[in-house]
Amino acid sequence: MILVMKQNASARQVAEVIARIESDGYTAHLSEGGDHTIIGIVGHSPTPLKAETYVPMEGVEKVVPVSVPYKLASRSFHPKNTEVPLNGSHLGGEKVLVIAGPCSVESREQIIETACAVKEAGATALRGGAFKPRTSPYSFQGHGEKGLQWLAEARERSGLPIVTEVMDPALVPMVCQYADVLQIGARNMQNFTLLNAAGESQHTVLIKRGMSSTIEDLLMAAEYVLSHGNNRVILCERGIRTFETFTRNTFDLNAIPVLKHLTHLPVIADPSHAIGKSEYVEAIAKAAVASGADGLIVEVHLNPAQAMSDGRQSLTPQAFQQMMTQIRRVAQAVDRTA
Ligand code: PEP
Ligand code: MN
Repeated sequence: MILVMKQNASARQVAEVIARIESDGYTAHLSEGGDHTIIGIVGHSPTPLKAETYVPMEGVEKVVPVSVPYKLASRSFHPKNTEVPLNGSHLGGEKVLVIAGPCSVESREQIIETACAVKEAGATALRGGAFKPRTSPYSFQGHGEKGLQWLAEARERSGLPIVTEVMDPALVPMVCQYADVLQIGARNMQNFTLLNAAGESQHTVLIKRGMSSTIEDLLMAAEYVLSHGNNRVILCERGIRTFETFTRNTFDLNAIPVLKHLTHLPVIADPSHAIGKSEYVEAIAKAAVASGADGLIVEVHLNPAQAMSDGRQSLTPQAFQQMMTQIRRVAQAVDRTA
């Protein structure tokens, strides 16, 4: 249930409503919706939640039942776009922001050189995995904390903030020491213990859509993080599994406008994992921007043929630079910048 307060509702009236919500055993989440304060009522309690409780209260304009299970992620709770700060810009704002870097952090030199190359081409943040979720236990699993230290050095050298995956709730505090954005991977999108730990950290969280998850599943994953009062959440469409085998996954372009409609959170696209072949990455990146994505996360490798993971889908720095040029043109066509 959502309470929309009157435009001139006083702080005392808002406080009284919150006190009532809490005394009934629920949690109140506040959102400033431009002219109105919006109060989301979430949680469960033996006291039934009734509109009649709040309708007569001073300062309440209307009570809106929310039929969707993702209350805090829904646009009705927060009509304006949530803008998540990233390197002096905002994801969800006018500018389309691009996060780029290798799939895995392979060495100190590799990550520093890649960071400088993607920055030069216009990237806003650096990606790179130190903990890698691999289908096979015999594949390269990442350099762990050493990889995080190299990422921190790459940030110092390039000025780019770091986006990196965390796979284990117990490692959230350690990854937070190095990362600016915690990435929750597709394979962990419904690891609820991990989502709770990421929410509690109050760090910015990037949630990638699970390969067999629905749009609603993704929004519920976001709800876990938001329920901890952490509203710095970014959603990412990265392709889903279908019967098609020519491409690694099938990019669900539908998800971009649908998510932008259903939620206030920024939505980005990962064309690299979505299609899995570098020669098509630019086309998918352009489609994502044209359809309203707020940003992209793209894999870039200095020498894709030698990459320790995902070389087949990685762009060279030159190809990435060319993609950026194309993205800027598409962004302009849809009244944005990049
Ligand atoms: C990655 O970003 O390298 C990655 C493993 O992505 P996903 O979780 O989307 O497969
Ligand atoms: Mn990858």
